[in-house]
Amino acid sequence: MPQLAYVDGRMVPLRNAMIHVEDRGLQFADSLYEVCAIMNGRLLDWPGHLARLRRGLAALFIDFPMSDAALGIVARRLVAVNGHSDGLLYLQLTRGSARRDHGFPAAPSPSLIMTVRRFDFAQRVRQQATGVSVVTVNDMRWRRVDLKTTGLLANVLAKQDARAAGAFEAWLVAEDGTLREGSSTNAWIVKDGRLLTHPLSESILPGIARSALIDLARGAKIPVDERPFSLAEALAADEALLTSTTAPLLPVVRIDGQAIGTGTPGPIAARLAPLVWGEIERQTGWRA
Ligand code: PLP
Repeated sequence: MPQLAYVDGRMVPLRNAMIHVEDRGLQFADSLYEVCAIMNGRLLDWPGHLARLRRGLAALFIDFPMSDAALGIVARRLVAVNGHSDGLLYLQLTRGSARRDHGFPAAPSPSLIMTVRRFDFAQRVRQQATGVSVVTVNDMRWRRVDLKTTGLLANVLAKQDARAAGAFEAWLVAEDGTLREGSSTNAWIVKDGRLLTHPLSESILPGIARSALIDLARGAKIPVDERPFSLAEALAADEALLTSTTAPLLPVVRIDGQAIGTGTPGPIAARLAPLVWGEIERQTGWRA
């Protein structure tokens, strides 16, 4: 059965799924996106993704007429017709197509596209045993990265640097030495039993997995400090971690080739992992 995509109200074969050449998402990155995990055929943390999308739409003055309920129905229908048990739902909402002009079109007609693809979450469970390495790069992004826009060129280049170095992720470091987040993940360190992650601000993406981990850690009486920390602090940390929709919890054992702590996944990661997978199972019934 061919894979289906959703394009502006229609389910179409993925290979024929197209948008206009003058779509503002293409020309200006004038668009927002979400990536939501499909686990056991269900959408994980869907309300959180929807809330972040709505916040972004409001900030960009994109008036999208579809209700939350209708968006949920379409997303779930696309998941069902493609028959993926474990995968990723990609949703992108653009200001629509119009004759190219920087200012907003007089009567914008936003475009909504969605695709799904298979994704192996079990590999992330296996990677927990060894941990992953990251490299650091300068954070070259614009100043509103709290909005999940498709303006991801700096993230793309950062991830490519990581790949070239054989690392899993690139961590983005601000000019003042503050470690902000990864190219597509949020960053964490552990020091003296406390979890640290960058506070919500305009300079990081409010990750759904980040928010889930904060709640789970606090629920387990592991203290969490949402405060900026430097690359130097990260290098001297007891443990480091990253989180995202596609990597709900991964220990980071090396930064720029330097071992963190013992250079192996640490005890706080080991405590958090079953909580993270437990919450996923509670929501979706998914088990590794
Ligand atoms: N930070 C950035 C820059 C991202 O692009 C992402 C996800 O794509 C994340 C963090 C993690 O966000 P989430 O947990 O919602 O997947």
